[in-house]
Amino acid sequence: MTFINENYLKLPGSYLFAEITRRVSAFQNENSNAKIIKLGIGDVTQPLPDAVIKGLQSAVDEMADADTFKGYGPEQGYDFLIEKIIAYDYASRGIDLSTDEVFVSDGSKCDTGNIQEIFGVDNRIAVTDPVYPVYIDTNVMAGRTGVLGEDGKWSEITYLPCTAENEFVPALPTGKVDMIYLCFPNNPTGTTVSKAELKKWVDYAKTNKAIILYDAAYEAYIQEEDVAHSIYEIEGAQEVAIEFRSFSKNAGFTGTRCAFTVVPKALMGYTKSGEAVSLNKLWNRRQTTKFNGSPYIIQKAAAAVYTEEGQKQIKNVISYYMSNAKVIREGIMKLGIEVFGGVNAPYIWLKTPSGLDSWGFFDKLLKEAHIVGTPGVGFGPSGQGYFRLTAFGDKDMTEEAVERFNQLQL
Ligand code: PLP
Repeated sequence: MTFINENYLKLPGSYLFAEITRRVSAFQNENSNAKIIKLGIGDVTQPLPDAVIKGLQSAVDEMADADTFKGYGPEQGYDFLIEKIIAYDYASRGIDLSTDEVFVSDGSKCDTGNIQEIFGVDNRIAVTDPVYPVYIDTNVMAGRTGVLGEDGKWSEITYLPCTAENEFVPALPTGKVDMIYLCFPNNPTGTTVSKAELKKWVDYAKTNKAIILYDAAYEAYIQEEDVAHSIYEIEGAQEVAIEFRSFSKNAGFTGTRCAFTVVPKALMGYTKSGEAVSLNKLWNRRQTTKFNGSPYIIQKAAAAVYTEEGQKQIKNVISYYMSNAKVIREGIMKLGIEVFGGVNAPYIWLKTPSGLDSWGFFDKLLKEAHIVGTPGVGFGPSGQGYFRLTAFGDKDMTEEAVERFNQLQL
């Protein structure tokens, strides 16, 4: 008899997007003429920048010639890409990293999900609430989270509420936690914290010998000065933080797949007997055993992001999405709805009006304005009473969506 990992049975079904699809289909069936605008998805819509396409094409040509063909590459990624990452994303901000501290991969979803494998199951995790669900679900699979309560919370997870009441700035935990997931700019709330706030987390982690798992997938959207692009801008962070970065949202790689994770060599975890062990070595061991590297052609495409044209082109696409964010943000605010995010992130997080809960507002928006968004409660208990809209849509559709908000009977 083959036993299963029963932790998987604890996972609730992926209710959120299935339920959205169900409600949208039901509405569309009854209202076949309704032109529905989808502002719910967290996927980009603009094509890959020209420089990236050229990088891809020339790499494909290399694969067709025995002299330039590439087979297995380094599991950690090619130096040509890692060196560009370090120069453009880190050295330019005064952060010193060596090439063996950067691990190229096929996505931040996998990396944020896989990273927990190198940590003991007895660690207590903390997550901001609402949260990107991957952090929680992968820890459920590992057996680190206890049981799911009626209130939608796992018994062994420390939740750090982020709501309008605390301006979406999570408070330090009162009890001790060991692994802290932070994501700024945040998905789903679109909010950020100041460098001074981030410093408090670095200090907490140092004092408690905790590790911060810092997801900076939306770093490229930061517009304001006092928001860190990398946690390593904070002094001492290389001793306490792993950072996840992705080409998905800055360069349109959601379907092309390339990302990287920084595991500094100064970062230590501990054995039960108190011996310090390099997390860089553990992650390297994990990757070299279970991962065979991101494809050469994809890494070439990612390297093209760092060319002069590549940099210009990705900035244009980000500006396109950010002007959508501004249109949504300002248009909805005018209606007297409380709006957050959308300044340093492609997500707009609004307080559901008229005393409706998240799903109540979902239904109203679908019925009265034919717009689909994402109910905040789907991202965690503290998301109740909030709603997420994304700026990744087409410009004209986004403008039309905002016009349609005026039709809501608030
Ligand atoms: N981290 C956050 C916070 C995200 O919102 C997403 C995607 O939506 C990811 C990571 C996934 O990134 P990737 O496409 O590199 O797997």
